[in-house]
Amino acid sequence: MSQAIPVLILKEGSQRTTGRDARRSNIYAARVIAEALATSLGPRGMDKLLIDSFGNATITGDGATILKEIEVQHPAAKMLVEVAKAQDDEVGDGTTSVVVLAGQFLVRAGELLDEEVHPSLIVEGFEKAMEYAVKVIDEIAEPVDPFNREVLKNVASTALSSKIVAEYRDFLSSLVVDAALQVVEKKDGKYDLSLDNVKVEKKKGESIMETSLVKGIVLDKEVVHPAMPKRIEKARIALLDAPLEVEKPEWTAKINVTSPDQLRQFLEQEATILRSMVEKIKATGANVVFCQKGIDDLAQYYLAKAGILAVRRVKKSDMEKLARATGAKIVTNVDDISPDVLGYAELVEERKVADEKMVFVEGCPNPKAVTILVRGGAEHIVDEAERAVHDALSVVRNVIREPKIVAGGGAVEIELALKLAEFARKLPSKEQLAVLKYAEALEVIPSILAQTAGMEPVDVITELRRRHAAGEKWAGVDVINGRIADMLKLNVIEPALVKKQVIKSATEAAVMILRIDDIIAAAPPKEKKKGEEKKEEEEKTEGTSTSFD
Ligand code: ADP
Ligand code: MG
Repeated sequence: MSQAIPVLILKEGSQRTTGRDARRSNIYAARVIAEALATSLGPRGMDKLLIDSFGNATITGDGATILKEIEVQHPAAKMLVEVAKAQDDEVGDGTTSVVVLAGQFLVRAGELLDEEVHPSLIVEGFEKAMEYAVKVIDEIAEPVDPFNREVLKNVASTALSSKIVAEYRDFLSSLVVDAALQVVEKKDGKYDLSLDNVKVEKKKGESIMETSLVKGIVLDKEVVHPAMPKRIEKARIALLDAPLEVEKPEWTAKINVTSPDQLRQFLEQEATILRSMVEKIKATGANVVFCQKGIDDLAQYYLAKAGILAVRRVKKSDMEKLARATGAKIVTNVDDISPDVLGYAELVEERKVADEKMVFVEGCPNPKAVTILVRGGAEHIVDEAERAVHDALSVVRNVIREPKIVAGGGAVEIELALKLAEFARKLPSKEQLAVLKYAEALEVIPSILAQTAGMEPVDVITELRRRHAAGEKWAGVDVINGRIADMLKLNVIEPALVKKQVIKSATEAAVMILRIDDIIAAAPPKEKKKGEEKKEEEEKTEGTSTSFD
């Protein structure tokens, strides 16, 4: 054969990394992300100050939020970010743990790769280990009464203890449990709770201790016209997803007005249309209008004259909440408003909250509509408090869904490591290695917790292993007091559901990354000339110049 002719398959400038190098690069990237998050694990974890490209600062210790704010490049790192996001959507807590664990699984896998264990054997071993671990969690978890306030409060409090707002966790967890118990419902013989029913609204000002549970819906909006009533009792509510405006043509039309008469006629016609819209609404008996779109100045005036309280540009998600709460039907055309699509509330009122106006809808026929109005002195405090409330609500929901808890502080992870080591002994040798590495990887959680409390991780892990072998299944790291303790007795408890999800998601992420043996990266787009870039930028801003109040 003569000399081979090189065949070009990939586009010029593409980069390809294969086999061992691909894996190494992925493991390295995952490890960097995991290490970045590790220091913020648990109540003694550190917070991060994140500054985005616009200079906005966020202070948080919340894994999901950190990952959302930082922009990662490497595809493997991106996968971890996705997994954390999925964890947050699914169970609302345990995001830092997922990333830290996935990173550690990969580091341990890397050690096996160095010992020439084939990746597919590692994957098999890890998957077996995961299944077994989930089974063990189900066995060792403690069943609880899902309506026991104390238990729910402790679960919420544990989730809140790793937040910046931890000092308010007693107060906030009480509030969260009240809200949750208000909206819990029975579906097919099982209890569940939809987070859609709990609206979390925030307003900067006062202190976190002013955070309150409102039995109803709170909108971050004001009554649209000063002459409208600010308080309506026995409200008959219309929900309108259409503008109360005269439709303007899409294009700029030129109207040639040749006489003052013609102009008056034209304006009068517009006024007539708006007046008839308002009259239609009034005729149905509605005295409150929540409009998803805009309301024309003149329509506002007519509504005010009719004694109707109106709010414009209400968010879609709020419209849906209002519909559920008040029993109103959202209509997309003014002509469809009729007495039977109206909803009801005992009171709709605009109130001042921290110098800004908010609209409260209270005494709704559906008692399952509640709002937690989060307060806090500074922007980043209210933001973090809102995230904390979300996490706390999620964990309480998880326990109501599956009334089983486990103890925190790394207790579960050590117990799992021990049980997995026993399990490994029954497996063939290569898989055994993988399961043992998996078990060791789980110990990263108590190990980091120990570090955050200034304890010596190696000593702590040795002592924990000893205690667990002696049957103390809830022995863990009490980071607050810097000692080893029975975490169940300390009421540091978490939903079994969260722990199972952490294990599953972290393993899936690690396995997904291990299965990759080829990275093909397209060449980055060529740098544009200065002038071109500027032009594009201008075009972009032009297209996105819609702004609503
Ligand atoms: P994640 O995003 O994974 O939920 P967190 O920062 O909330 O991360 O930390 C959760 C970890 O902190 C869990 O392992 C939990 O058991 C542990 N933890 C929470 N409270 C305590 C405590 N008082 N003592 C020890 N560990 C705790
Ligand atoms: Mg947490």
